[in-house]
Amino acid sequence: MKPVRVRFAPSPTGALHIGGVRTALYNYLLARQTGGTMILRIEDTDQERFVPGAEQYILDSLRWAGIEIDEGVGVGGPHAPYRQSERKELYGRYAQQLIEVGHAYYAFDTEAELDAMRERLKSTGASNQQYGSQTRMSMRNSLTLAPEEVNRLLREKTPYVIRLKMPAEGDVKLNDLIRGEVVFQNAQVDDKVLMKSDGMPTYHLANVVDDYLMKISHVIRGEEWLPSAPLHVTLYRLLGWQNEMPQFAHLPLLLKPDGHGKLSKRDADQLGFPIFPLNWKDPKSGEISRGYREWGYLPEAVINFLALLGWNPGTEQELFSKEELVQVFSLNRINKAGARFDIQKAQWFNQHYLRAQPDDVLAGYLLSSLKANQINCPQDKAVAIAKVLRERVTFPADFWEQGKFFFYPPTEYDPQVVAKKWTSTVAAVLDAYRQEIEPLTTLTHTDAKQKLDEVCARLQAKTGQILQPLRTAITGGASGPDLMVTLEILGPKEVAHRLAAALHTIKPIA
Ligand code: GLU
Repeated sequence: MKPVRVRFAPSPTGALHIGGVRTALYNYLLARQTGGTMILRIEDTDQERFVPGAEQYILDSLRWAGIEIDEGVGVGGPHAPYRQSERKELYGRYAQQLIEVGHAYYAFDTEAELDAMRERLKSTGASNQQYGSQTRMSMRNSLTLAPEEVNRLLREKTPYVIRLKMPAEGDVKLNDLIRGEVVFQNAQVDDKVLMKSDGMPTYHLANVVDDYLMKISHVIRGEEWLPSAPLHVTLYRLLGWQNEMPQFAHLPLLLKPDGHGKLSKRDADQLGFPIFPLNWKDPKSGEISRGYREWGYLPEAVINFLALLGWNPGTEQELFSKEELVQVFSLNRINKAGARFDIQKAQWFNQHYLRAQPDDVLAGYLLSSLKANQINCPQDKAVAIAKVLRERVTFPADFWEQGKFFFYPPTEYDPQVVAKKWTSTVAAVLDAYRQEIEPLTTLTHTDAKQKLDEVCARLQAKTGQILQPLRTAITGGASGPDLMVTLEILGPKEVAHRLAAALHTIKPIA
């Protein structure tokens, strides 16, 4: 078997979509699993769509996601350069080769002539208006013009493109590793442009030439490229490379959460979740789109989530580290059907990976928010808060959002709790409790509970009646982390102080 050589071949036309990260990931997993090579090639031959900064963004995104590149842009390798714009001269040679053997031709048609052709075809009711086997012989190209005329036009530098002469009949069969046999009728495929008038190759030519030269074994890419596959297969054949043709695997589409249609940036914006791996500032509009990283997703979570978005392990297992994915990933378990984007699932993964981090890392998230808010906090207190909040957070910023009350006493009290539960018995218990706590110098969570039970017994109240009002008095909220541990972290003086403030502010209901 040929050594596995796979490539991720994005075009720097904007921010990398999360679907692109998934494509890169599947390529990467196959490469790692087989001891193969993961290549990054930048397909930047479309100068009109080139966006400054997009290439660096792609590199940064892959690095963040932990998708390491073995060969390619930013790394180098035996087939350098890996940026297609730097390989420009090379493609022309192959286009010439195709012309010489009669599989491609020069086309000198102007825009106006192309428009006229389409109009003509439209008026005759033709099913399509393609430049292809039906029309090429009525156009201005090296198939219809005399050789001297062609030479003259070339000498005079008349703008031209090079088109592939698609076989008029027959079909192209493609054995896609995911979709099985796919058959396309040649007559349906038009004479695609291979070289543009600016001297740049089109995506199709550059892609095939580079996959061949870089000895790519598997082309794993999004389903949107499936319609281009017959053309690519034809190019391999006409260039005489059919024996070196890579295997193809077209990944299922990423669908909107409701399963209706392809997921777009608009859907993501509307539904309030990120679509790009990192923050992206559109160089034209200046608009910033928030990325997974800045939203608070951990790369491990994103990798796990993306792996399951189109692939299934064949078991119930959902949690996979990157190393486990390398072990179990297989192309034949990639689903044919589109993969519905489920952001709740992504959050669930994030929760899992966030909670699995060591205490000091979690405390670090809190400490950085505290620093941003100019609040000093000793490390051990931050660790204690991180520990008590661990089970409640989804994103790193939640430590601050959910732990703010440790630093700011409440200014408001949950109105429901006040209206329903703050009876005069409750107030009496809380006041007695305050008196017990105030003289103490430390308060452990077990002492805090024991003292509460004692006070309740003394005043003939049930502890269960008191817990929620106590929480509201201390935090302002109706729910939150372990209450006794919360009291321990706050310490007896702060607890007593907050109780006094609540008792002063809240009037009992009965
Ligand atoms: N440059 C293409 C893209 O932007 C690559 C498609 C392929 O992998 O062949 O997705």
